[in-house]
Amino acid sequence: MKNISAFIGGQFVTGPRTFVKRSPVDGNLVALVHEADESIVDLAVCAAREAKCDWEKWDRNDRAELLERLADAIAARADDLADAEVADIGRPREQVLAAHVARTIETFRLYATLLRTAKDDAWHGRAVSPNISRENAPQTLAYTSRHPLGVVAIIAPWNVPLLLLALNLAPALAAGNCVVAKPSEHSPSSATLLAEIFHDAGLPAGVFNVVHGMGANSTGSILAAHPGIDGFGFTGEGRSATSIMKSAADGLRPVLFELGGKNAGLVFADADLDKAAQACAMAAFANSGQVCLSIERLYVERRVFEAFLSKLTAIAAGQVLGPLISQEHRSHVHEAVKRAIEVGARCIIGGALPEGEGAFYPATILTGLSDDAELSRKETFGPVVHIAPFDTEVEAIARANDTEFGLATMVWTRDLARAHRTAAGLKAGIKWVNCWQVRDFSTPLQGHGRSGIGAQGGRESLEFYSQITTTVVSL
Ligand code: NAD
Repeated sequence: MKNISAFIGGQFVTGPRTFVKRSPVDGNLVALVHEADESIVDLAVCAAREAKCDWEKWDRNDRAELLERLADAIAARADDLADAEVADIGRPREQVLAAHVARTIETFRLYATLLRTAKDDAWHGRAVSPNISRENAPQTLAYTSRHPLGVVAIIAPWNVPLLLLALNLAPALAAGNCVVAKPSEHSPSSATLLAEIFHDAGLPAGVFNVVHGMGANSTGSILAAHPGIDGFGFTGEGRSATSIMKSAADGLRPVLFELGGKNAGLVFADADLDKAAQACAMAAFANSGQVCLSIERLYVERRVFEAFLSKLTAIAAGQVLGPLISQEHRSHVHEAVKRAIEVGARCIIGGALPEGEGAFYPATILTGLSDDAELSRKETFGPVVHIAPFDTEVEAIARANDTEFGLATMVWTRDLARAHRTAAGLKAGIKWVNCWQVRDFSTPLQGHGRSGIGAQGGRESLEFYSQITTTVVSL
């Protein structure tokens, strides 16, 4: 039987308690996972604090070179990492290789480049002071430099485990931090393997540590409360973020939060309806809807509504989806669909529990709900999309924006002016026009409203994981 344990200071560390990780495909045992208690979390934080003194002194070119070696090491073990992710979440292997592993390699290479090309600011000139008259003010050279936060905690979700860890880990390491990471209890396999791969590739012991366990009242909250943590990169649900933020308030520690959404897509009558339907199906059903950027609400201009719905339904009928992460999550999705039907939703396709083992759920399209129904407002995080007609552009924008979230949105139109106008009116961190989930990680993504705090990606992440200093030299 496979055992997964913590990886601390370059070594595996087992704990007094284990929990069982099962496959969402067939319920078979994937691994026994060692849950980190207070003493193991403390060991991990202490190992990171010890490693910090040397790691933060590394020259940025040396750190960039090492990040490239880490990317090479991931590429060399791509199959093993993909196996780990497939075992945990049941997503088809080719999708895991492309969407999880390849993009993780890309992320480490990106931060190597950003680190090499990072620029500080400098000002040369007379600088005023409250103590010296303006005429006598000295010529100065002032310049900025960036320094790591110290030891940061990265708490990751299960839906794209490796990549969503990497999107925080790569900039945190690039900026010179040491890390204690906690992957989700539903996807423990790739994180410890990654730590082992990085250790073998030359990352100094203690710079990247991994602990396992649940979130609330377990390893997650123990880590969040640990005073040796200087900042938090968290991806997951708003409720968990609230709890982490309360802990982070002790010590006034900064947080970078990437949270959920209730993302809307708009399809105008002038759009290429075939392409739009393909993209909307992808946006609703990719990874069985377990993508924070998924489109769960679709608004379609009334005069093409029926035609578009038939196209989307035909595509949904041909979708073969992987499982949801667990039976528990499947029940959560199915109950949400049942409640929607009880309050008047019409189920166009899907909506029924399939026979057989595994946490599978079909591609589901609902219509007929009001914008204030529960399913129109709360994230389902499953392959469920609600579709409704609209009459005017103004109405469509207002309905799309009628949410407490603001993560992603999508517009389909051939009218260039409308595309820009509509995108400008929508409230979201990322707005796709005639495409979905196309993103270069050099660009930032900031969840608006309850979808996040701070921006992730590109230089913005490097900035979060560092603090700025200004030095003023009198010449
Ligand atoms: P979750 O919040 O349940 O868990 C995420 C991680 O936080 C896990 O490691 C969990 O153990 C830990 N955790 C939970 N409660 C905690 C607490 N009180 N203290 C410390 N740690 C705690 O989220 P999930 O179910 O794993 O992921 C799904 C959610 O994540 C969805 O809402 C989805 O939209 C969101 N998400 C957002 C993004 C983004 O980039 N915006 C990306 C992926 C997922």
